[in-house]
Amino acid sequence: MTLSLHIHGAAGTVTGSCHRLVTPHGALLVDCGMFQGPKSLRALNYRAFPFAPAEIAAVLFTHAHIDHSGLFPKLTLAGFQGRAFATEATRDLLRWLLPDAGAIQEYDVERLNRRNARRAEPEVVPIYTRADAEASLSFIDAQPYDRWFEPLPGVRARMRNAGHILGSAFIEIEVDAAPRPLRLVFSGDVGPLDKALQPDPARPGRADVALVESTYGNRSREPISEAGRRAVLGRELETALAAGGNVVVRSSRSSVRRKSWRISRSSSAAGSCRARRSSSIRRWPAAPPKCSGPIVPRSAGRRADMRSAAASSG
Ligand SMILES: [Zn+2]
Repeated sequence: MTLSLHIHGAAGTVTGSCHRLVTPHGALLVDCGMFQGPKSLRALNYRAFPFAPAEIAAVLFTHAHIDHSGLFPKLTLAGFQGRAFATEATRDLLRWLLPDAGAIQEYDVERLNRRNARRAEPEVVPIYTRADAEASLSFIDAQPYDRWFEPLPGVRARMRNAGHILGSAFIEIEVDAAPRPLRLVFSGDVGPLDKALQPDPARPGRADVALVESTYGNRSREPISEAGRRAVLGRELETALAAGGNVVVRSSRSSVRRKSWRISRSSSAAGSCRARRSSSIRRWPAAPPKCSGPIVPRSAGRRADMRSAAASSG
């Protein structure tokens, strides 16, 4: 059996995660992420995919962060006709994050085109719009954790809790082969132990091939308990308050307890609209709050904030 694996992102950099697995039964992608960071990296988002999107039968998302999902609307615009699979929570997060990413691109391009018009430079178009992103959501099916399903005949997959963000998964893939199926594991981003809001990551079973993201390079992640994490956050907040500074928290609003940390003089959360949405998703399946326009933090420079709102990576 010939099976090949192609790495189209998150290699030599930590964003743009996109792995293409070509099997005799068909080709699939694990993640379809957007490149983020310096302009030279973001430029990669505008190039054509280095494969034919129409030949991809399935997309499996490890989690909703834009550096793992953000080019999916572009894939659908470029001819993808298969199905995409994500955990239920990831699918729900993508309902917000992908249209928001589209809106941010529209906003970015509008500003750029105003500048280009002054310089008599050609107009540019966004990679995709909010409407494109909304249309792409119909391709995504939800799958529960820990249950095998068949993204294409001859290939089975199972989402396991990765403990990274709400809905995050590492994915086990089993490809029919003789004399026995070949099993691959794609780690996605793996969360730490002892988090307040999520169970510890599950452990993968046997694997013939394991693809493990290595954002931390050759550094080990320091073990830290929930209490230790709270203590570190408390020290950071106290230091900022003592200096009369602001604290920008990139997290869901519910992660921060105003009372405990006495942060009433600080801005409690960047992008409160995003925080409301995240909170509602935690209460899921409650209806998400209504927010319009790109979700951008308000405290610092608008352009820099848009980038961080689009990023939300890690
Ligand atoms: Zn992530």
